[in-house]
Amino acid sequence: KTFADCGFPVPLMNAIAKQAYEKPTTIQRQALPIVLSGRDIIGIAKTGSGKTAAFVLPMIVHIMDQPELEKEEGPIGVICAPTRELAHQIYLEAKKFAKPYNLRVAAVYGGVSKFDQFKELKAGCEVVIATPGRLIDLLKMKALKMLRATYLVLDEADRMFDLGFEPQIRSIVGQIRPDRQTLLFSATMPYKVERLAREILTDPIRVTV
Ligand code: AMP
Repeated sequence: KTFADCGFPVPLMNAIAKQAYEKPTTIQRQALPIVLSGRDIIGIAKTGSGKTAAFVLPMIVHIMDQPELEKEEGPIGVICAPTRELAHQIYLEAKKFAKPYNLRVAAVYGGVSKFDQFKELKAGCEVVIATPGRLIDLLKMKALKMLRATYLVLDEADRMFDLGFEPQIRSIVGQIRPDRQTLLFSATMPYKVERLAREILTDPIRVTV
């Protein structure tokens, strides 16, 4: 199994080559075909497994497949992560693969100016990577609309629950259209995360690495 087997378009293949990712990691090999087919997924994987590219690469394909990309505004891909450090890591990975398509990636999290993030979101983006609390604040401020959001990733769901973000996650999910594609990644699957997955994913496929 190679990245070429995934049928990625040439600009994305070039970006992958530039990263010197020679072949997909185990989680990528398992998850990429499922996510590219449009199915929801529960990925049980830890940091270091290559899970970020497993959701970022299909997200780029998903975004470029949107027929009315130019018409609406607001993010198409929404990624929630527990901490600003993780959100920033995901941002760096997303930027590499968004670059050949000139997609705008915004990262919003606590500890930095809400006003600057408000302005950035107002200017428009195709992808937003966020910690749940800050995203809620910015949604309340009407910094962004979720009308175009059709690809939702909850990364390190168990850690987001540990940090008490369940209400924020539920609020965010509730603002995204139900015909979205939803991806949930977690290192562990405690009951609360399992329950959320059952509520917000549609007929998901589960992969464990
Ligand atoms: P992650 O688990 O997503 O945080 O990724 C861990 C590290 O592996 C990151 O530094 C990635 O850039 C790197 N990585 C992701 N996919 C691959 C791959 N297919 N081949 C080599 N390195 C990779």
